[in-house]
Amino acid sequence: MKKLYRDLSPEARASYGITEDGSEESWVYCLTCGRAVPQGDCVVGEDGRLECAYGDCRPTSASHASTDLRAWDTLAQEQGGAAAHWPEKPEWGRRYPLRDADL
Ligand SMILES: [Zn+2]
Repeated sequence: MKKLYRDLSPEARASYGITEDGSEESWVYCLTCGRAVPQGDCVVGEDGRLECAYGDCRPTSASHASTDLRAWDTLAQEQGGAAAHWPEKPEWGRRYPLRDADL
């Protein structure tokens, strides 16, 4: 059984957390598969980082040992107009292409 972010103690959350508030309800975006997931559902990785919650998500290159997660709201700001249609609360399982992604 994989350990999830929501199972962590407050102290552990402080080191694993991706979003500023560290809430398990706040959303993170996976750069590897382009989908969003509540932080609480993210898997606690062996390398000390959180990993994508989607079971079919795999790092695409050897340079990425694990999946790459970002805070949803921070990333939306960085993406600017390309993320103008991004909702405050994303949908589970939906892909949200990035500005730089090949569409
Ligand atoms: Zn992913």
